[in-house]
Order: sequence, then structure tokens, then C-alpha cells
Amino acid sequence: MRVVSGPLDNLEQWDAFVKDRYDPGKTEDQFRKYDDATPPVVREFYRQNHANQTREFVLQKKRQYLGKQRGEMGIWDAMDYLNTLVDDSDPDTDLSQIEHNLQTAEAIRKDGHPRWFVLTGLIHDLGKLLCLYGEPQWAVVGDTFPVGCAFSDKIVFPEFFAANPDSNRPEYRTRLGIYQENCGLSNVDLSWGHDEYLYHVMKDYLPQPALYMIRYHSFYPGHREGAYDYLFDEKDREMFGWVRKFNPYDLYSKGHTKPNPDELRPYYEELIAEYLPAKLRW
Ligand code: FE
Ligand code: FE
Repeated sequence: MRVVSGPLDNLEQWDAFVKDRYDPGKTEDQFRKYDDATPPVVREFYRQNHANQTREFVLQKKRQYLGKQRGEMGIWDAMDYLNTLVDDSDPDTDLSQIEHNLQTAEAIRKDGHPRWFVLTGLIHDLGKLLCLYGEPQWAVVGDTFPVGCAFSDKIVFPEFFAANPDSNRPEYRTRLGIYQENCGLSNVDLSWGHDEYLYHVMKDYLPQPALYMIRYHSFYPGHREGAYDYLFDEKDREMFGWVRKFNPYDLYSKGHTKPNPDELRPYYEELIAEYLPAKLRW
């Protein structure tokens, strides 16, 4: 199967763009010039994302998916299923979804972090199953941002929001929009994607820092750019320390050394069983 519903050759093209944008070797000046160097398909991806992620769309996706009516699946089955997302990548140098997940988890494990943190590395992108449910790329990946209030110019490619119908709705155009000052992110709707979906699958089982990492790892405007601080409450500010701790593993642990899923599976099956039921609702 191939990812057809979108301009990207594969979902990792978005990850690679983010990684490049936040390359620690870049100067502040180069950092702001991502525009020229961005592949046309990535630009097109963001154009679609920013034009189509309206508050109405987000609420509709929440109604569609948060009831978790798509059946039951264990974690390893979900990883195998996600692995059927085969795309245009080069099979000799590129890693499968399972290998990517294992690399992130192994990097966290090597640094001696708590077991729930390692597990979070393993599962954090399983929400990308949305692609296999037929969702377009722009509704699965991409930097996330609040809807229902003004779009921050700290979001990548802010100019593409001109085509978003919410930009013309007076009630959504102000700094706070429909929200209250420091209302807390749990009261804010973010653009729809793999973060929010997986959070709802996992929310009864994992410690709070893990849930924050899962729910907000693509919220780059919030955790890297300092935007929307006025929507955060004290708990969010505290927990975003964990989201920031997680981010380097997400961005920089993907090398070309292939982890061996068969060898690692016993360790991870035990870790999964420590926190999660044998089958979860999706
Ligand atoms: Fe992700
Ligand atoms: Fe990731």
C-alpha cells in the first residue's frame, strides 16, 4: 500500500523538514530561511494543512474518532499494521515504521530514562494509523496549532492561513478567540492529527508526562517557539518540560542503523504489558 492521499512521498518527509528546521548547527538567520530550501511537496503539504484545518473540521474529526469505534488491537499488532504503510522511500537506506519507533525508544532507553518514557518513544507515532483509515496527510502529520483563535505568525508558513475560512470569522480572529486567558490546553482544540488521536487511545493508562509528550509532540509553535503561552495553565507549563525533553529523541534519534525487531521484541512486549492492556480500543 502507498500513501496516496497527499503531496508527500512519505510521512517522514514532514519529520525530515522539521528536523532540518531545528538543526542545532543552524544560525538564527538560516533558521528563518527555511522557505527557499523547502521541497515543493512539503510546501504544498503545509498549504493544504493550513487551508483545511478549521475548528469545524477538528470538531468533526473528534466526533468521528474519539469514540474509538474502529475495533481492538494490541500495540505490536498496531505497529505491524502501521508498517503496511509502504511508500516511495528507498528500501536499502530507509527504515520501516517499526524500525523508526524502535530507534526512538532505544535512544531513550540508552540514556537511562524511566520505563514509561521508553514506552512513550515506542508508541508516540502510532496515531499515524489515521493514514490507513483514509485520512489525507494534512490531517495526520504537520506542526499542530490551536483552532478557534488567531493563528500565530510563529507557526511555519503563516501566510497559508489566509486561505483558511476561520481567518475570516470574527469570533476566531482575536488573540484569545473562543478561549479564556490561561484556560489550559485541555480546554483548547488543536489542529487534528496523530498526536490527539493517540492521546485518546492512551489517556487511561500512562502517567501524565507521557500523555503530554504524546498529545503535544507536534505542537512546535508551543514547545519550540513560545507561542500561545496565554492559553497555557501552570500544569501545562510544568509538563511542557517533559515535552521538550522528549523532542530531541523524536528529531535526532533516527539514524540508518537498523534495530532488529525480532531481537528487541521480548523486552518491549514486557514493557508494553507493564502499562497497557493486551488489547486497546482504537
Ligand atoms: Fe509524531
Ligand atoms: Fe515521531
